[in-house]
Amino acid sequence: MNTEHANKNIACTITNCKYHSCCGDYCSLEHIRIGTHEANPTQKSCTDCESFELKA
Ligand code: SF4
Repeated sequence: MNTEHANKNIACTITNCKYHSCCGDYCSLEHIRIGTHEANPTQKSCTDCESFELKA
């Protein structure tokens, strides 16, 4: 996993994620998937980055 890549189109502060860029508050992936754990999402907290994986 090349976390030296910083995708300036995806700002992210989740440093616990294995895809977080080592070089700034960005994601290192080319694209991510956003989803929800709610049946009817109405707030920011209803949304999830489904590409998140816990850093080992
Ligand atoms: S996969 Fe999601 S949570 Fe992980 S660094 Fe990228 S945007 Fe952040």
